[in-house]
Amino acid sequence: MIDACGRTIDHLRLSLTDYCNLACRYCVPDSATPCGQMIDENFAYHVVRWLSTRHGIRHLRLTGGEPLMYRPLHRLIRRISALGSLREITLTTNAQALEQQAESLVAAGLTRINISLDTIQADRFSHVTRGGEIDRTLRGIEVAVEAGLTPVKINVVAQRSFNDDEIADIAQWGLKRGCIVRFLEVMPIGPLAHVADKHLVPASEILERLNKRFELRAIPGSLGQPATDYAVTGHGIRGVVGIIAATTRPFCDRCRRIRITSRASIVACVHDGTSFDLQSCWDGTSLRVEDADEVLSRAVLAKPKEGPRKQSLTMVALGG
Ligand code: SAM
Repeated sequence: MIDACGRTIDHLRLSLTDYCNLACRYCVPDSATPCGQMIDENFAYHVVRWLSTRHGIRHLRLTGGEPLMYRPLHRLIRRISALGSLREITLTTNAQALEQQAESLVAAGLTRINISLDTIQADRFSHVTRGGEIDRTLRGIEVAVEAGLTPVKINVVAQRSFNDDEIADIAQWGLKRGCIVRFLEVMPIGPLAHVADKHLVPASEILERLNKRFELRAIPGSLGQPATDYAVTGHGIRGVVGIIAATTRPFCDRCRRIRITSRASIVACVHDGTSFDLQSCWDGTSLRVEDADEVLSRAVLAKPKEGPRKQSLTMVALGG
């Protein structure tokens, strides 16, 4: 699949639900009431089959909301995995409920996992997530490593006056457990765009803080792909930290993604409020492929060259 700017689209982010068991302050607005929209399992399966066998999608990331809250998750992964048409099936999660699920997710066919962890301090974690229990996420990370979902990637959204003083400590914690630790600039998304304006910690500063603690070597070829990764001396082959500068150095020219929300809409750009309805192509048991092709074609051709900052949805609804 090639868009109007010549970008190959082979990554799909599929949001299974807009319900999350946490409510991170930069992701879920104060006023948000969780509606708990769950994607239909058969719809999700048929859409992945259609996109991977007919349109070259090779990388699938299951997200939300919180994908571990999606009841048929394991069965859906098993069915998608059996297609044999994807290079990887990955999941982004807060890991609050991972301890009990990691092994069976691997057995179902999950290839890798990204776990969100913005702080390693219990009181800060509880504050930013509005009530999350840090021990559950920390344990979830350890269990994911034990289950072989390696390399486990830890996603940290760097935020001024919240965790900017902890950047090297979080990296240290993750490296010690063999994880790749990735620091993300906070992005201006929908009604919470102002959070990015107020709390952005630029990639240059994240790197400066990491450089003070670690000896880093940029990994050739990784620059802005979209992460820029660095090997950390003394931490072996898995010793890697990365920075995703989505706000100060957007990687739109290298963006290979489309998203599908739990409301069955295609979103071609995270910063663009335009969405394309796929629900109308679903008759309850099968996908009308010619109609879906037409919707997809419109969505991909409308993918903007650069993110226009015109998103009205929140990240929790879009699928981060
Ligand atoms: N509940 C899961 C989790 O916490 O990983 C998956 C959904 S969450 C929306 C996916 C990712 O989006 C998380 O790593 C979260 O930190 C990130 N995210 C949410 N809002 C963001 C923002 N404004 N800028 C950058 N990353 C954001």
